[in-house]
Amino acid sequence: MAEINVKNYRRRALRKKKDLSKFMRELGKSTKKGLLKTAIEVDKEVWKEVSCTNCANCCKTMTPTYTKKDVNRIAAHFKMSYDEFYKKWLKKDSNKDIVNKTTPCQFLGKDNLCTIYAIRPVDCAEFPHFVRKDFKYQVQEKTYSNNMVHCPATLVFVEKLKEAIEADL
Ligand code: SF4
Ligand code: SF4
Repeated sequence: MAEINVKNYRRRALRKKKDLSKFMRELGKSTKKGLLKTAIEVDKEVWKEVSCTNCANCCKTMTPTYTKKDVNRIAAHFKMSYDEFYKKWLKKDSNKDIVNKTTPCQFLGKDNLCTIYAIRPVDCAEFPHFVRKDFKYQVQEKTYSNNMVHCPATLVFVEKLKEAIEADL
């Protein structure tokens, strides 16, 4: 798959943000059935166009939220205690979520791959959260509207979701 030009996706997201955010706000209020099914179909199309290994922008510019279980698992991998690991790499944000102190993520390798892939935080494993039971809630919480500027896959997801839903009206 071709190299991703993250700057171009970001420019496109900023150009279309107003229109796409309006669509997502309306989708959050809609009573339309079968949204998750549409999201599952659109998700498959997104990954034909976007490859995360050519991008890694989430790992470079955002932070995952860690659960305590994540911290225990990753700390144990490095033979560190919870507190040692926490003190070295983590902090609480304004929502009291456990997050990285700095970006890019300390576990991102020079080759754009995660060096702790098999034991990465669950939030990383599930990102960008396209297929989930609480899909509608995520739409209402602006998860996709907020992420589309940072994540090329999310921009393509929202664009394709809009196309699919408008074609079905
Ligand atoms: S999830 Fe999004 S930001 Fe992260 S690597 Fe994939 S396309 Fe890039
Ligand atoms: S733990 Fe791995 S997947 Fe998660 S942000 Fe860091 S480098 Fe990316």
